[in-house]
Amino acid sequence: MILNILFARGLMRRMTETSIQPALKSVRRALLDADVNLDVADALIDGVRRRSLGREVIKGVTAEQQFVKAMYDELLDMMGGGAPPVGGNDDGATGTTKANPASLGSSSSPAATLAYRGPNGPAVILLAGLQGAGKTTAAGKLALYLKEREIDPIAVSLMSDDERSNTLASRMPRRNRRVLLCAADVYRPAAIEQLEILGRSIDVDVFSMGTDADPADIARLAVDKARDGGYDTVVVDTAGRQVVDEELMEELRRVKKAVRPDETLLVVDAMTGQAAASLTAAFDSAVGITGAILTKLDGDSRGGAAVSIRGVSGKPIKFVGVGERTQDLEPFYPDRMASRILGMGDVISLVEKASMEVSDADAARMQEKMAKAEFDFDDFMTQSRLVSSMGSMAGVAKMLPGLGNMIDNSQLSMVEKRIKRSEAMICSMTKKERANPDLLLMDRSARSRVMRITKGSGLSFEDGVAFMSEFQKMRTMISRMSKQAGMGGPEGAAA
Ligand code: GDP
Ligand code: MG
Repeated sequence: MILNILFARGLMRRMTETSIQPALKSVRRALLDADVNLDVADALIDGVRRRSLGREVIKGVTAEQQFVKAMYDELLDMMGGGAPPVGGNDDGATGTTKANPASLGSSSSPAATLAYRGPNGPAVILLAGLQGAGKTTAAGKLALYLKEREIDPIAVSLMSDDERSNTLASRMPRRNRRVLLCAADVYRPAAIEQLEILGRSIDVDVFSMGTDADPADIARLAVDKARDGGYDTVVVDTAGRQVVDEELMEELRRVKKAVRPDETLLVVDAMTGQAAASLTAAFDSAVGITGAILTKLDGDSRGGAAVSIRGVSGKPIKFVGVGERTQDLEPFYPDRMASRILGMGDVISLVEKASMEVSDADAARMQEKMAKAEFDFDDFMTQSRLVSSMGSMAGVAKMLPGLGNMIDNSQLSMVEKRIKRSEAMICSMTKKERANPDLLLMDRSARSRVMRITKGSGLSFEDGVAFMSEFQKMRTMISRMSKQAGMGGPEGAAA
């Protein structure tokens, strides 16, 4: 009864065939443009359409916009938004990012872990794929990635609980590894040399036996050497062909049998587009894969291949290649890929923001009181506006005795740039976030919120992290100062 009245007055809107029709079309075009397989695209769209019809449209957005967001969530889910990684002894994360307002836009990469056996001998990672896909390059990239130690305290503080415990408990000790690269592509002398050069450039040993040996023997001896030499991970580079053929598959099966890899990663060129579906199916059924690496994402491809790989094999994409250099490897982030495939990032962040406003509204009144006692983002904005209104920072600094000489102009314009960025981010925050900075610093949803805010303001997540840590420092300083003022200052306390 009440629902009917609300509905009739237009206070509550629902999604209907007609209201989502235009969005359906544009989403379909986006998916096909990204080279997602036609059947896959239609199946995805139909699923989302059926689940959307009759749903309430949240305040502040249109039915069309909400449909785009639902499609984004579907893509995210389908690319493993939170599924546990597959392969070897890898336990990895088990978090789920099923759409719920607090975790929208959450950028987790649960798949970017690789098997580690600790003292139980070296973990073996086998790379497979077509010629030119980027296997040899990926071998070097993986070796570098595994060799590095990674920890950024601010980034860790912005992780979800699941992510944090996963990182601290399993991923961190699994980096910093001793890696042995193995050259098992014997068909071209240049292939061995290529890996040797890569190895030298990142200071990782390469095991090779020339072009006369059998790939399965090479791989086995490499693992023996790793065991004897105290290496904990072996990355095996293999040969590829221009097309999938039985001889290649047979060789891969023999290598696999010889070393029983913990991971068999299919390396796929992102430009492969929808053909990635049949490619993945062929490798998975003939050899069996545990995951994939999608390369050359720095190119024009919008990444439709990612949808096919996961859709066909159910195996996670673990990493993406974003350039030719050994450091151009990134964990695979389903949410970034979903945005890339769908485009329409502005619509997605709009809906995310609107749904946060709605869920925020309930808690707002209670939070407001708490927040007043503290320095928040609104205060920050007021402060920085004040500075801007006084003229450029350089001008201000020159008026202050001493300061003008201490800071040079380039530093000052950097500060100004930082302030502009901060303002852009504050403008992308919800009202509640502005008044309650803990939501962006301590809360479980902090990471996804910062993600959304940086996306919304056209900045990188790293910018967001830097700003949060800067803000946190400032807040601590201000609270310390106000405490001291309350106690009559340090002199007063000492007296
Ligand atoms: P393989 O035959 O599978 O071993 O392929 P390679 O590793 O030799 O790579 C083939 C070419 O692709 C080389 O020129 C690489 O530099 C290039 N390549 C590999 N990965 C990437 C990537 O992520 N981005 C770009 N732009 N080029 C890549
Ligand atoms: Mg190669």
